[in-house]
Amino acid sequence: MNIVDIRNVSFAYARNQPLIIDDLSFSIQTGEIVGIVGPSGSGKSTVLRLIAGLELPTKGSISVAEKVVVDDSTFVPPERRGVGMVFQDYALFPHLSVAKNVEFGLHRLARSERKERAQEMLELVHLSGFEKRYPHELSGGQQQRVALARALAPRPNLMLMDEPFSNLDAELKASIRSELREILKKAQMTCLFVTHDQQDVEDICDRTIRM
Ligand code: ADP
Ligand code: ADP
Repeated sequence: MNIVDIRNVSFAYARNQPLIIDDLSFSIQTGEIVGIVGPSGSGKSTVLRLIAGLELPTKGSISVAEKVVVDDSTFVPPERRGVGMVFQDYALFPHLSVAKNVEFGLHRLARSERKERAQEMLELVHLSGFEKRYPHELSGGQQQRVALARALAPRPNLMLMDEPFSNLDAELKASIRSELREILKKAQMTCLFVTHDQQDVEDICDRTIRM
């Protein structure tokens, strides 16, 4: 199944501004892990924001799981697209503990299952034992790992990740990369992943799209 299908999408931040994305088309199949690579400013983050519904294309259509989420006459809002996101500026809820942040999207699960899932995700990002902390008590890298755990916890069909490891040191990156790939594959999650790190591409991605 096509999890993402982008057809002839163009985008400018405002009328009379140059097109940042000009007639882009690609699709991604269930379970693929795809890297978006290219120079800074080439529109990588913008592609993710368009798929998430945080920006509206100037032209073209986008489908998620074979359902049109945006075209000339359709707009499905971000929270109804079934898409998980880890963006660099995607803040944690400051008034919720680490555990509550990770459990946030799991209200449909029974309480015990919710706890178990959150625990499993915190283990993935090497933050077991941090459940009761609050975001302001964490380093930038730790906050980034909680955001990753929170996005993965509901096991969305599609994960969008924008440089999710940018604040992590090399050793932690290496171990999270391989475990993340395993988790994505086991849950048959599809992942679209912006990175400028060649090692990310080699260790996680099945293929890349160059902007
Ligand atoms: P990348 O992720 O490849 O570095 P981006 O998608 O962030 O690129 O940005 C693509 C282009 O859009 C850049 O030239 C950037 O300056 C411009 N841009 C990004 N955000 C905005 C914005 N909110 N308003 C106007 N231009 C923007
Ligand atoms: P990093 O190397 O990831 O940037 P930091 O040097 O920022 O880490 O933080 C080191 C340790 O201090 C971490 O374990 C973090 O949880 C803890 N820490 C950072 N800021 C605070 C804070 N405001 N309150 C309590 N603990 C903190």
